[in-house]
Amino acid sequence: ELTALSDATLDRLTVERPRYDRQALTPGIVHIGVGNFHRAHQAWYLHRLMQSGEALDWAIVGAGVRPFDAAMREKLLAQDCLTTLIQLDPAQVSAEVIGPMIDYLPIEDGNAPLIAAMADPAIRIVTMTITESGYFIDPVDKGFDAGHPDILHDAEHPRTPRTVFGAMVAALRLRRDAGHGPFTGMSCDNLQGNGAILRQAVVSLARMTDPDLAGWIDANATFPNSMVDCIAPATGPRELALAEAFGIKDAAVVTHEAYRQWVIEDAFCAGRPKWDKVGAVFSDDVHAYETMKIRILNAGHQVLSNVGEVLGRHTIADCMADPLISALFSKVQTEEIAPAVAPVPGMTPMEYVSLIERRFSNPRIVDTTRRVAFDGSARHTGFVLPIVRDRLAAGGPVEGLALVEALWARMCEGTREDGTDIAANDPLWEDLTAVARTAKTTPAAWLGQRRIYGDLAEAQPFADAFCRWLALIWEQGCAAALTTYAGPSR
Ligand code: NAD
Repeated sequence: ELTALSDATLDRLTVERPRYDRQALTPGIVHIGVGNFHRAHQAWYLHRLMQSGEALDWAIVGAGVRPFDAAMREKLLAQDCLTTLIQLDPAQVSAEVIGPMIDYLPIEDGNAPLIAAMADPAIRIVTMTITESGYFIDPVDKGFDAGHPDILHDAEHPRTPRTVFGAMVAALRLRRDAGHGPFTGMSCDNLQGNGAILRQAVVSLARMTDPDLAGWIDANATFPNSMVDCIAPATGPRELALAEAFGIKDAAVVTHEAYRQWVIEDAFCAGRPKWDKVGAVFSDDVHAYETMKIRILNAGHQVLSNVGEVLGRHTIADCMADPLISALFSKVQTEEIAPAVAPVPGMTPMEYVSLIERRFSNPRIVDTTRRVAFDGSARHTGFVLPIVRDRLAAGGPVEGLALVEALWARMCEGTREDGTDIAANDPLWEDLTAVARTAKTTPAAWLGQRRIYGDLAEAQPFADAFCRWLALIWEQGCAAALTTYAGPSR
C-alpha cells in the first residue's frame, strides 16, 4: 500500500524521516533552482544537522525564476516540501525522507515574492543551483555578458527583474536602504571559481544602474567559492517506481549515489550552519580540490565516453565493465593524469582515482554515455587539454592522452563501429564531423583546429602519437588501439 508523502503521513513510513519538529523550523536560506541536485546535496547536509537538533533556524525556502519551475513548486507544496532521497549504493538501495525545506515561493513576473524574501534580514544565505549556463558568461572572454537581453532588461527595470542576479541586486538594495547587512551569496553549480563568477554577475549588474550599490555589495557581501560533488540523475518513471517500492508516493523523488563531497571557502558575512560537523570541509584552497575533480573525474568522463559511444556502451558503468575501456582508464589516469594533480588534505591523486573507478562502476547509477560525451569541444578544451600542456611542459608521457584525443576524433566522425549513426552531440558538431572525416585519411587535420588545440599541433611527441593512434583506429578499430596501449584490464 502506498502512502502519499506529507507531514500528516510521516509516522506511517517505515524509512528514516525527520526527528525534528518541522513546525518549529525558521527560515535562514533562500535556495534558487530547486532541482534534484540541491536536495541530494545541500539539503541533505542541513537535514543531518537538524536530525541532531542543530541549525533549526536555517530552514530552506525554495525559489525559482523560470515559469517552468512552477510545476516543481506545486509538486513540493502538495507534499509539504518533503523529499524522499533514494541512495543507490551498489550493495543496497536505501531511502530516507528529509525535511529542511519549509516553503516554496510563488513564481511571478518581476519576482516580487523572491525579492521580498531575500530582503528579510532573517535570510542570511542565498544559495543557487541554476546550471552552468545560468551565469551569463561571455563565451569568448569569460567575462560577464552585459549585452544579454535579460541583463539589459534587468538594468532597465531594476525593481521588476527577470534574472536571479537582478532579484539579488533588488533585495540587496532594500537591505542596504533599511540599514541591514547583506546576505552571503553561494553558487553550488559545477563551475570553477563559482563564487567569483557569482560576485562578478551581481556586482556587474548592480553597476549598470547604481554604482554606489555595486560598491556596497562588493565591499560587504561575500560569495564563497565551493566545490560540489554527488551524482544525482534526473527523475523519470524508473525513479518514481523506486520510491513506490518503499511504499512512498513522492511526485519529486531524488535518486543519488552514496558519495558526497562539499568543499567551501569559509566566507559568510551573516553566519552559516555548521556544515563541517556533518562532512563538509571548509578550506581556503577550494581550487586544489576543484583541480583534482576536474582532471580525474571530469577528464576521466571524456576518457570513457568517447570510445564508449563508438563501441555502443550505453552507460558509464557499461564503459567501466568493458575490460578494454577500463584498462585505458586505469593506465592513462595512473601514468599521465594523476601525476598532473597535487594531493589535497586526506587524499592523494591515486586514492582519488580509485574512488572514481568505484563510483563510475556503480551499475545502479544510469548515467548515459551520450550525456557524458556531450559538448566535447568545451570539455576537452576545459578538462583534458590543460593536462596535455602540463605534461608536455614537465617532459612527461602523453601517449595515453593522445589516444584519448584520437578516440574523440573517431567519435566525431559520426558513426559507431557497428555502422549506426551517432546523433549530433556538440554545439560545433557539423564542423567537428567535417574535420573528423578529413582526419580519417589525414590525421593531422584534426589537430589543425586551432580554436580547440591552439599550438598543440606543433608539440611533436603529442602530435606524432595522436596521428599514429588515429591511423591505427581507422585501420584496425578501437579495440586494437586499446589493446596496443593497455591491453585488457585484469
Ligand atoms: P535540474 O535540471 O534538476 O535543476 C536545475 C534547476 O535550475 C531548475 O530549478 C531550473 O529551473 C533552474 N535553471 C535552469 N536554468 C536556469 C537559469 N538560466 N536561470 C535560473 N534558473 C535556471 O538539475 P540538477 O540535477 O539539479 O543540477 C543543477 C546543477 O547542479 C547542475 O547544472 C550542476 O551545476 C550542479 N550539479 C549537479 C549534479 C548532478 O549530478 N545532478 C552534480 C554536481 C553538480
